[in-house]
Amino acid sequence: MEFRKLRLSGFKSFVEPAELRIEPGLTGVVGPNGCGKSNLLEAIRWVMGENSPKSMRSGGMEDVIFAGTATRPPRDFAEVVLHARDDGGDELDVVRRIERGAGSAYRVNGRDVRAKDVSLIFADAATGAHSPALVSQGKIAQVIAAKPTERRMMLEEAAGIAGLHVRRRDAELK
Ligand code: ATP
Ligand code: MG
Repeated sequence: MEFRKLRLSGFKSFVEPAELRIEPGLTGVVGPNGCGKSNLLEAIRWVMGENSPKSMRSGGMEDVIFAGTATRPPRDFAEVVLHARDDGGDELDVVRRIERGAGSAYRVNGRDVRAKDVSLIFADAATGAHSPALVSQGKIAQVIAAKPTERRMMLEEAAGIAGLHVRRRDAELK
């Protein structure tokens, strides 16, 4: 799967709609402290289903919504759109949106889907919120300090077999 474009609106510091093209190959994000580099990476994780407050550096789900500044009022929703092309060449538009007091919802190519559907799409494409392809600050140290089981998860995600676990868990619950 190839990520092509990211659109953010009301997400963390990206209060005005912003669009970023993601070119093939390795992408690095540079800029002064506090300009939103980590927020961008978190937006990619979030649209793929990340809910862990620690990964999102937030206390609660709604903390990703622009909270306002001295000169700008807060927003009441945050939306991230990830435009990708899957391995078969099909276009994929994944939207996650959260509204204050209303929780978050996903859409794929215009259709309402469950969080689980989104996580399966990305797990099968060997990517996802915990993909080793997304290298954030402190990540290298984290790999070194990881417990064996955590390190195995990282390797499985890198190898593209994490989707099998999601499906097995799902089958076991039924
Ligand atoms: P560094 O180089 O220090 O790692 P960075 O470019 O990674 O910086 P980020 O951590 O992405 O910067 O952005 C931090 C900024 O985002 C801070 O100014 C913070 O106030 C702002 N921010 C985070 N969440 C929100 C929110 N919900 N509403 C408004 N602003 C937010
Ligand atoms: Mg940062």
